[in-house]
Amino acid sequence: MNIVLLGPPGAGKGTQAARLQAQRGMIQMSTGDMLREAVAKGSPVGIEAKAVMAAGKLVSDAIVSALIGERLDAAGTHGAIFDGFPRTREQAEALDLLLSERDRSLDYVIELEVEEDALVRRIVGRFTCANCCAPYHDEYARPLTEGVCDQCGATEFVRRPDDNEATVRRRMAEYRAKTEPILPYYEQRGLVRRVDGMASVEQVAAQIDAILDS
Ligand SMILES: [Zn+2]
Repeated sequence: MNIVLLGPPGAGKGTQAARLQAQRGMIQMSTGDMLREAVAKGSPVGIEAKAVMAAGKLVSDAIVSALIGERLDAAGTHGAIFDGFPRTREQAEALDLLLSERDRSLDYVIELEVEEDALVRRIVGRFTCANCCAPYHDEYARPLTEGVCDQCGATEFVRRPDDNEATVRRRMAEYRAKTEPILPYYEQRGLVRRVDGMASVEQVAAQIDAILDS
């Protein structure tokens, strides 16, 4: 089973991918993580990618494809979850080729659908304990005692600088611009399935499982 997970930042793709990896043995292909890992390991592709990034350029499709090919070969027969790739029609075609060269194919493209205003509230409201990193939320999960961490009693909390409305809306617009060109490519092949990304983590997991087990 090979799937592409689509959804804007904050939709919960990472959480679902980690769960699928733990429960089904699928391999997560997050291109950002894979690039950082290849650079850190100093693999041939990593060395090439490092030089490109040091020059302030974007890593080419050829480098990303080589990375994915390496990872697919290492993963053996386990299924793969693609996250952050493909982002263009050309990359979608490159992914098909990478898979078909290994006698594999894409089974589903699962989009975590979000409602933008609700996503903004979800992301902008979140904060964590500065000491133990316990997660909280202004609306849904305030500490039992105002200003005191339930877990460790600390009184300092932190918010990520990216968790602001302007950033979330900009990323949402970027996501739409990037995804629109590839959805028709997969829709015409009947691969696209949509799940409600605003549901709870458990409900989203159940929706994804129902698709994978159908
Ligand atoms: Zn704490």
